[in-house]
Amino acid sequence: MGLAQDVGTTPVVLKNVRLIDGTGAAPIEGATILIENGRIAAITTGPSVAVPSGAQVLDYSGKTVIPGLINAHGHLGLVDWTDEVWGTQNSATAYTRENVVRELKQYEGYGVTAVLSLGGNRDLVYDLRGEQKAGKLDGADIFTAGRGIGVPGGAPPIPMADDQIYRPANAREARAAVDAMAAQKVDIIKVWIDDLHGKAPKMQPAVYRAVIEEAHKLGVPVAAHVYALADARALVNEGVDVLAHSVRDQPVDQALLDAMKQHGTWYIPTFTVDESFYIYTQHPAWMDTLFFKTAAGPKLDAMLTSPAYVAKVKADPSTAQHEKDFSVGQENLKRVFDAGVRVGFGTDSGAFPWRIPGFAEHRELELMVSAGLTPMQALVCATRNNAELLRATDLGTLQVGKRANLVVLDGNPLDAIANVDKMVSIIHDGRVIKPLATTAMLP
Ligand SMILES: [Zn+2]
Repeated sequence: MGLAQDVGTTPVVLKNVRLIDGTGAAPIEGATILIENGRIAAITTGPSVAVPSGAQVLDYSGKTVIPGLINAHGHLGLVDWTDEVWGTQNSATAYTRENVVRELKQYEGYGVTAVLSLGGNRDLVYDLRGEQKAGKLDGADIFTAGRGIGVPGGAPPIPMADDQIYRPANAREARAAVDAMAAQKVDIIKVWIDDLHGKAPKMQPAVYRAVIEEAHKLGVPVAAHVYALADARALVNEGVDVLAHSVRDQPVDQALLDAMKQHGTWYIPTFTVDESFYIYTQHPAWMDTLFFKTAAGPKLDAMLTSPAYVAKVKADPSTAQHEKDFSVGQENLKRVFDAGVRVGFGTDSGAFPWRIPGFAEHRELELMVSAGLTPMQALVCATRNNAELLRATDLGTLQVGKRANLVVLDGNPLDAIANVDKMVSIIHDGRVIKPLATTAMLP
């Protein structure tokens, strides 16, 4: 995304912070960050910074600053947030300006300053992205895969309108879909390769081969929804750029790791996908925080805590599968990461009600750490790495010249990744934003 015009016009100075800049380098203690015209103008240590007249000076002694989180696998406009249902249902009519803007604000208010909406977008997304670039719309920066390319009678199994997804019958139709989305300057092309545990037809290799070839001819990368190792291997060898979910049917093998390294393929784990199917039935302590409840909203919170919901999930034969998928995914991330494969960060938040925008990204960081990454490694995936994945050269790290997208924390996430929830303020393009929620427990 180019230079946004809605930059904070008042210079901002953040004093005395611990700076985790997103590059993976050790934190800089006692840093002062000068923000002008929405960008990082200077980073200094010691008393030497010249404060411009009229600047807003924020003394954040003892606080830690990280780059704004980037979600490289989310979805806009698939869940209905209107008053009647308020986040509890998918709807093929949910892709409205009101719903999408609400989700963008929720991401931003949880420190997620950019989101890649990875398919299922109506063409409204291009208008909204244009408004953001013209400085007329706040909320998380939109990156988009446009409609995305699914399968007739198959994945994705989400209610969508006809103008929200392509389901080509053959390679020729698939190429036409790629051409149409490339003409709209999508950031990436999305394909779904999944037979949903044998319940649905899977995209034929001839179709995704055509998609990858056509997209690359037009200079657009391709991300694939994937579940099974065999599909992942085939896609990587065809040149797909991003595996947008964990491989979960079995442990990743050396052939996949070698191929991903050879091709420079990205891996996005999305643990939220698997965990969100069952975790609420266990009522973890975080469900009693305002941090969770604010993101869920009262209706979804009531649904996820209701005995009927808990009984339904516990009786669902696929629940055991989701738990197994989660643990296979955890082990696979560690293998993939240690092998030196490029790892991004995503959640699939917004695809279904129980994958909650903003909250999910914080949870995902914890789950990357529980998989064996250090907090620093997880943060770098969610910031610098994702900026590289999105080819967004002015995002992802806090360095002079980059856009001033950052989160101020009351706690060091390197000590405990959960400290990433303790948001004091969020700065997006130099605008200072109050977080939507605190980590307080309910009274
Ligand atoms: Zn998705």
